[in-house]
Amino acid sequence: MATTERQLFVFFQFNGDNKSFCNQHCPICYGHDKTFLHYWNGDVDKWEKAFERLNRDIYFVMSYGEALGSNGFYECVEMIGRHPNWTLCIITNNSYNPDKLLESRLAQEGRLFITACWHPLGVDNCETAWENFKENLLKYQKARVPLNVSYVWYKPQIHLFPKYFDWLDKHNFRVVVRRYVDTHSAFKIPVIRRMKWFAGKSKLADYTEAERGFLYSLTCDKVRKYGLDLASTLGKPCSAGKDMVLVKYDGTATLCACCYGRQDRIGNIFNPDFKLKEHLTKCPTNTCGGDFGMLHFEDSEFGALPKRLGKDNFLMLVEDTPQSSPVKYEHRKEMLEWLEKLRC
Ligand code: SF4
Ligand code: SF4
Repeated sequence: MATTERQLFVFFQFNGDNKSFCNQHCPICYGHDKTFLHYWNGDVDKWEKAFERLNRDIYFVMSYGEALGSNGFYECVEMIGRHPNWTLCIITNNSYNPDKLLESRLAQEGRLFITACWHPLGVDNCETAWENFKENLLKYQKARVPLNVSYVWYKPQIHLFPKYFDWLDKHNFRVVVRRYVDTHSAFKIPVIRRMKWFAGKSKLADYTEAERGFLYSLTCDKVRKYGLDLASTLGKPCSAGKDMVLVKYDGTATLCACCYGRQDRIGNIFNPDFKLKEHLTKCPTNTCGGDFGMLHFEDSEFGALPKRLGKDNFLMLVEDTPQSSPVKYEHRKEMLEWLEKLRC
């Protein structure tokens, strides 16, 4: 039964946590020190009962690992599909053939959304993997599944970007470029980690003018302020814990994908007495991960939070850019000018 309440945004880590299974090995991954293991508990009924107890319309998000190759994936897809007021957005590296997923009830009923991440440095053979990536994208497009492509903005991956963008734009795939902020991996990847502390704020410091220009021209004001200029979210009212929750394979529930540690726990979803927060929380951290946070923390400068999440993938919801042909980039002209500079 659909309600007028906001959809509950659930990061659903059914097969582990940030560190668990993936079939790729990107030099930069939010799952630091990955184990690449599967932790699926094999009990889909237990999950289903836990989510039913919340009595909410749910917008599931599978991310931080490769869902399509994870143990328990199709059981979870079927479970979500059984509930007409539940939807699923998958952040995937898009290396797996989606044919079976496209036959699911979720896909058939327009309740499946995809963010396909292209990681040229995470695959064994870039050319073969890119062909496979494109083939899978076209399958989703043909099936009319709302989709965007995501690309992480770090060197040397940035330099490979223009040629991929050309193909994606020609085929009407909306591209989202994501900056990477890290505070732990200085020794592994110093070039992208360097942030300058300036007047009490951290700044992304490594981009050239063109790299920075393209990144900024591609996104919206709220993401620019919090995701790129890294304005602090500390103490700001946020619906994390109330309208958003992250659940790990063992049922541990935390505020969000940034507030993920022991101190950010709000209980265990398998506990029959588990309750979401009734009120907004004050963000306990300085840097919000970006896109998902833009749908949940309040800043009156950008108007009210969306009442519902709707039928699209959440990156498109943040930037308010539904699917279109050609892709409707707000600053397309500026973007393409920066892109030409990136080619030099
Ligand atoms: S595809 Fe995603 S989860 Fe897998 S290694 Fe790369 S960044 Fe990490
Ligand atoms: S503002 Fe961002 S980091 Fe802070 S609690 Fe909300 S979603 Fe999490």
